Amino acid sequence: MPEYSISQLGKFEDCALQYKLIYVDKIKRYEEGIEAFLGQRFHEAMERLYRERAFRLVPLDELLAYYEKQWADNWHDEVKITKEGRTPDDYRLLGRRFIEDYYRRHHPFEEGRVLGLEEYIRFPLDAAGRYNCKGIIDRLMLAPDGAFEIHDYKTGSSLPDQAEVDSDRQLALYQVGVQTLWPQAKDVRLVWHYAAFDMEMRSSRTPEALEKLKADLGALIDRIEAERKFAPHESALCDWCPYWDLCPAKKHLLKVRELPPDLWKDEPGVVIVDAYAERWRKKKNLEAQGKTLDAEIKALDAELEEIRAAAIALSEKEEVSVIAGTDARLRVTGKDKTVWPAKGTEAREALEKELRSVGVWDDVSALDAAALEKAVAEQKWPGDVLDRVKGYLTAEKRYTVTLKEDS
Ligand code: SF4
Repeated sequence: MPEYSISQLGKFEDCALQYKLIYVDKIKRYEEGIEAFLGQRFHEAMERLYRERAFRLVPLDELLAYYEKQWADNWHDEVKITKEGRTPDDYRLLGRRFIEDYYRRHHPFEEGRVLGLEEYIRFPLDAAGRYNCKGIIDRLMLAPDGAFEIHDYKTGSSLPDQAEVDSDRQLALYQVGVQTLWPQAKDVRLVWHYAAFDMEMRSSRTPEALEKLKADLGALIDRIEAERKFAPHESALCDWCPYWDLCPAKKHLLKVRELPPDLWKDEPGVVIVDAYAERWRKKKNLEAQGKTLDAEIKALDAELEEIRAAAIALSEKEEVSVIAGTDARLRVTGKDKTVWPAKGTEAREALEKELRSVGVWDDVSALDAAALEKAVAEQKWPGDVLDRVKGYLTAEKRYTVTLKEDS
């Protein structure tokens, strides 16, 4: 039975293609954002601090020296900085400040008993064991009042509001795990440390909220396991995605970005998009002047149609859904469409006869294409009937091509 982490489940919701590349195809990438690199170093420093706390109090200078060493030892060429003008040192110093602030606020670190650090937990969501989850708790504590506390460090640059932490799924899921593994954990508090703001946020969950979470995550796991297409979903998160070379929405952009400036303009995809954008802008100008019936518009439409065909051909050949131009992009979306024989054709007549002879004509009310498609998709009829009906089907791909100007 597969086990799912909350970040894995969230990844599927963010972009099914990226999920597939990571968890199904297991394609490893070593590129990581500097924010994740910094977060990892901060976590290591916290682990060191609390692991040693059972024996001694690590002085701040020693903790910072440990952080600096971990930073240097783990640094690699694939750490990526996306914010313009920022340097690795900016982030290194930021991490130091996070540790200093945290240290001063929580010194002398006697806020309870440490039950686990970087604690790996595995647990089922349901009694039957159909849905299984896993996670790593940054720090599990037993508070002086007997409550279990699940602590999590966040080093990101945005501070959520209380409503957001009250609906956060990660620590709530860990609570499900903690209460499954340690049934004596009756009271559980969820605690986040937002290092960039030197701020702590807390939340708790009702049993009903946990039941709903379990049901929601079970449904999400069902969706993941039934998924076949794993389509890309572009968002702001693409900037941190290391799979552009495998993503139809990004690989052309990546290819042209890597070209020297003198070759850029002649790249076939760029030529297509630039030509399309030029005609599209001309047409828009004419239309703005009210010349909607002008012969020039007709000529432009014909040219646009030709370029559109070239864009579709390139998208199929290179398996790309977005083609980058100099200052615009063409999105080519293909959808599979099932086509039934047209009215008045011999095939149509034969299909109608077939449907009557196998006794399912009434189901599709005078050969309504939508009803037919539904009946086939839902496998409404016996296998031999479906097979005979499917013999009349042909598959066709329909495309839409849209231009988006770069802002
Ligand atoms: S680049 Fe964006 S759309 Fe493509 S796989 Fe990555 S996250 Fe998904």
